[in-house]
Amino acid sequence: MQVCVYCASSESIREVYFQQAELLGQIFSQENIQVVYGGGGSGLMGRLASSMIASGGKIKGIMPHFMKEIEWAHKHVTEWEFVSDMHERKRTFLENTDAVVALPGGVGTFEELLEVITWKKLGLFVKPIVIVNVEGYYDPLILMLQKCIDEGFMSPIHGTMYEIVEDVKDVLPAIERSAPWNEDAIRFAKG
Ligand code: AMP
Repeated sequence: MQVCVYCASSESIREVYFQQAELLGQIFSQENIQVVYGGGGSGLMGRLASSMIASGGKIKGIMPHFMKEIEWAHKHVTEWEFVSDMHERKRTFLENTDAVVALPGGVGTFEELLEVITWKKLGLFVKPIVIVNVEGYYDPLILMLQKCIDEGFMSPIHGTMYEIVEDVKDVLPAIERSAPWNEDAIRFAKG
């Protein structure tokens, strides 16, 4: 199984977020789950990768060349795919990926998460998406998605495209219980 993780590059965040990234890395290593991520060495990306490496897990960085040149790559990740730009990177994240997990993050994480939800709405990506709402970090975004449904910009079935958990311990059960989805979703994408 391969899981793609989107998460923060920032170092200026509370320790509780780092603890969750570390624990998620340990869980994936224990379960022998291959992770693909942005390849960064800082913030939650750095902590996730270091945790997976320390616990003998398999993690692969997917990064545009320009980020490598400015030395954003994690120093101890050994498996890499370098791509030409951000669009190719986001497409590559999802190739052979069985589930997506969004830990807390900034605009880069929001962008990745909202793109994968959009792709799922169109039936271009049909696998589980799990949002890890650590200490309510994602409450405003979850509220916005619900408002989007309430106001008719998206239909109620689209609210089943993502699972929300409060703690990384619940990520694997959320992947398991995720509602089935398929390429046919394009038929009702307009709501
Ligand atoms: P942000 O949430 O704004 O910190 O952005 C994090 C997301 O954007 C990650 O999932 C990465 O795919 C990408 N990204 C942003 N900054 C970096 C970085 N310094 N190194 C690697 N990837 C990054």
